[in-house]
Amino acid sequence: MRRLIVSSCLALVACQGPSEAPAPSAASDVANAPSAVAAGISADTLLAAIERLASDEFEGRAPGSSGETLTVAYLTDQFQALGLDPGNPNGTWVQNVPLVGITPADGDTMTITGGGQSREYQPGVDYVAYTKRVVDEVEIDAEFVFVGYGAVAPEYDWNDFKDVDVAGKILLFLVNDPPSDTLFGGDAMTYYGRWTYKHEIAAAQGAAGALVIHETGPAGYPWEVIGSSPYGESFDLVADDRNMSRAAIEGWIQRDATAALFEMVGLDFEAEKAKAAAVDFQPVALGVTGRTRVRNTLRTIDSQNVAALLPGSESPDEVVLYMAHWDHLGKDDSLTGDQIYNGAADNATGTAGLIELARAFTQGELPRRSVLFLAVTAEEQGLLGSRYYGENPLYSAAQTVAALNMDVLNQWGRTRDMTVVGMGQSALDDVAAEVAIRLGRVLNPDPEPEKGFYYRSDHFSFARVGVPAFYADPGVDYLDKPAGYGLEKRDEYTNNDYHAVSDEVKADWDLSGALDDLTLMYQMGAGLAASDDWPEWSATSEFRAIREQQRPPQ
Ligand SMILES: [Zn+2]
Repeated sequence: MRRLIVSSCLALVACQGPSEAPAPSAASDVANAPSAVAAGISADTLLAAIERLASDEFEGRAPGSSGETLTVAYLTDQFQALGLDPGNPNGTWVQNVPLVGITPADGDTMTITGGGQSREYQPGVDYVAYTKRVVDEVEIDAEFVFVGYGAVAPEYDWNDFKDVDVAGKILLFLVNDPPSDTLFGGDAMTYYGRWTYKHEIAAAQGAAGALVIHETGPAGYPWEVIGSSPYGESFDLVADDRNMSRAAIEGWIQRDATAALFEMVGLDFEAEKAKAAAVDFQPVALGVTGRTRVRNTLRTIDSQNVAALLPGSESPDEVVLYMAHWDHLGKDDSLTGDQIYNGAADNATGTAGLIELARAFTQGELPRRSVLFLAVTAEEQGLLGSRYYGENPLYSAAQTVAALNMDVLNQWGRTRDMTVVGMGQSALDDVAAEVAIRLGRVLNPDPEPEKGFYYRSDHFSFARVGVPAFYADPGVDYLDKPAGYGLEKRDEYTNNDYHAVSDEVKADWDLSGALDDLTLMYQMGAGLAASDDWPEWSATSEFRAIREQQRPPQ
């Protein structure tokens, strides 16, 4: 789901990390050195797996589709052929992930009434509303309350709700953290900034609805990603209460539609938004109501995570885990022309990379710790497969050394750098930095920590249960390419192919950079699997306390 949009980091030196990254002079080594790709990893096998996974036959790999059946069978065959063991201790290659698929019916608009006026907002255009409740229909007719950023953060003495009762209201949230140099991670986003947090806190406050106001800059992606993306079936894990504790409707509202709604009662959205930056912000009951109905068709399915294990020679109970999400958005019969979201870059590349890593491990020295290769489902639906694993681990979190995630590999040639998302979170950064130096490469921090990418892919599902988790994006500093090439390609992908049917294998792909990145990932995991170290979260990490509880300091 996540996508890094880089716009400000033009020169290598400008993105240099403060401490971890080696000096730029080390970077030039990679330009002269022959590529030191780990044995077992090759462009031919990587591309073959990507092409298979991204083929039309796999129909965009939607959870619960025939594309899932083909994907799971393909991955199982690949891991089996490499001589790995079934990754589930029950002797199978899969972990069942029970999901509910919720398909909202078309047709309902939202009637907005206030200030003596009434208008109809169009779903997909002005707002997106869905329900996570496992019911056929929800109906709401309630007042909008603007709750600013909606953060309840006792550690910062911050509570946007004050003592205002917002039960039964439709809450409008600003995206991201309250802006502050000193609170909420400074420039970096905390979990309070994520839209998922806002939907969760709305439920905790007993709200009827929770809509996050979409603004392109702060959200990190254009409205089209929300407005057009799966307005068809979406999935959730099946909670015991059938998700009845969630707000009746959740979703997003477009920025201009929000401003128009404020204007109906003579309020200026930007002025109200500015007030929300202050700790003394008070929720604003808008005196405008929204009425809509969401009707659902429901089905429950078992989707599957695929798991393959290379047992360790000395400490088989200690596990180093690699993961990539195999799923993508499926197909949409309502489209004319191409209907298949092939998800070649996102994330056939990472899934194929998982197979390459597995092959590298079978050709290297047998690791003393076990290595688990986990291809997770339903990432695009909100990290569901990884979250399910985190809550129902096949190997306990306390015995899991690290989780290393891949989501979209480099398709455009070799780079000097890799971009570490959430740099500074854990000692895994040091492990990566050591490997990078050996390979003559550099690590740079995510230039946009304010967008909270660390909370937006599957590694977060491990972080939240305490397992140190590492995620790196492809670099942007390309060998033999003009300055700015990497950002140009990245913007091209974001604007044209991200979550679009055109995310297909392209004739001009150059996977040499992906081989370098996979080699770095391999060396990291191989080092961890050969050692008896337990990398820790940093002192400032919000996940450190959980880890210390599950693995008390010696
Ligand atoms: Zn992805």
